[in-house]
Amino acid sequence: MSDSIPEDLVDRVRDGDVRLHELDEHVDPDAAATVRRRLVAERSEATLDAVGEYTFDAADADPNIDNMIGAVQVPLGVAGPVSVDGGAFTGDRYLPMATTEGALVASVNRGCSVIDAAGGATARVTKCGMTRAPVFRVADVAEAEALAGWVRDNEPALRTAAESTTSHGELLGVTPYVVGNNVYLRFRFDTKDAMGMNMVTIATGEASAVVEAETDASLVALSGNLCSDKKPAAVNAVEGRGRSVAADVELPRDVVTERLHTTPEAITEINTRKNHVGSAKAGSLGFNAHVANAVAAMFLATGQDEAQVVEGANAITTAETTVDGDLYVSVSLASLEVGTVGGGTELPTQAAGLDVLGVRGGGDPPGSNADALAEAIAVGALAGELSLLAALGSRHLASAHEDLGR
Ligand code: NAP
Repeated sequence: MSDSIPEDLVDRVRDGDVRLHELDEHVDPDAAATVRRRLVAERSEATLDAVGEYTFDAADADPNIDNMIGAVQVPLGVAGPVSVDGGAFTGDRYLPMATTEGALVASVNRGCSVIDAAGGATARVTKCGMTRAPVFRVADVAEAEALAGWVRDNEPALRTAAESTTSHGELLGVTPYVVGNNVYLRFRFDTKDAMGMNMVTIATGEASAVVEAETDASLVALSGNLCSDKKPAAVNAVEGRGRSVAADVELPRDVVTERLHTTPEAITEINTRKNHVGSAKAGSLGFNAHVANAVAAMFLATGQDEAQVVEGANAITTAETTVDGDLYVSVSLASLEVGTVGGGTELPTQAAGLDVLGVRGGGDPPGSNADALAEAIAVGALAGELSLLAALGSRHLASAHEDLGR
């Protein structure tokens, strides 16, 4: 941070000679943030001293923020440790969660403790692929059908073009969708440990140039919204996006009755009537109690793109009372977009969150760290679902919030 700033520069911005985003051309990034803070404080009469207290060099945040004035701090807690048998994430682990919702970490922590009492959770990534779907204009439906056929026949050429832009990304496939004289090509990539949105956008741009060069189609937009990024969309629920990941646990009946003060039958009924029937009636894409809570808190703690909580909340929770009277619970997140390299993952506090999980940076083999992060978040979501369903079963939801959250 820098507090000494050239006063004449502040005046030049006030006079309109220099714009806020041009300040980095005149002073170092920390000083530029200080000037902006001064000017914003003047105009808004806000006190911005607290946002000026940040722990990293503004230069290091350069790829992540524009017009920086400081940093917002979100309290960070941990739930667990919780025992996990994952495809990539194993052992007894703490789950880092950044949130301002009182009682959330306590709730997930309670879920972790009963999962542990049951011997731990199982988690697996079941599908992987980040997507970008450009939209092309064609003359009519005959040309649309011809383009779809051309794409199927020429996938190797599209793969060569796309993969020329990245040393990690691999094109898994291209699926054409036709709507009249619009053709959407949904490109799907294995992005290894990167969440991959920048990577696949660049790669898809290169492949789209081949489509335009070799056919009569015209690219209208590199993103045609069938991708579908940062919007609730059934295509992500059905086909997946990023990681499709699931976690489950079987809780012995006595753990449910003694630790959660409810029964497997009550939790099973609440899950059906609330998460399934209620969500169906609401027209919801997510059939769960509050998966967004664990996803958002772990996204913030580990430097993920927070807007992608939209897709991360696209999850189905199931609960069954087994023939032995125990409780089986699972959560399946269809479209969890996560990375352990790139984006916000390299900022110091977010990198520390990844370190708590042991998944910072590129994995060995590539992709294994992002798989592990996805499994960790799925276990956090499972713990949160269990705890909330149990609180509803024991009718403790309101009193828990009264005690812990306010
Ligand atoms: P990125 O920071 O742009 O790129 C990550 C790069 O890391 C990869 O392209 C890859 O380079 C390299 N890399 C090194 N080790 C790797 C490993 N083990 N696995 C995978 N890659 C590795 O991040 P991104 O994940 O592509 O994109 C995330 C960013 O995109 C976030 O900041 C997000 O907010 C933003 N975003 C962009 C869009 C968009 O439309 N462009 C949309 C939403 C979000 P190589 O490719 O050279 O191998």
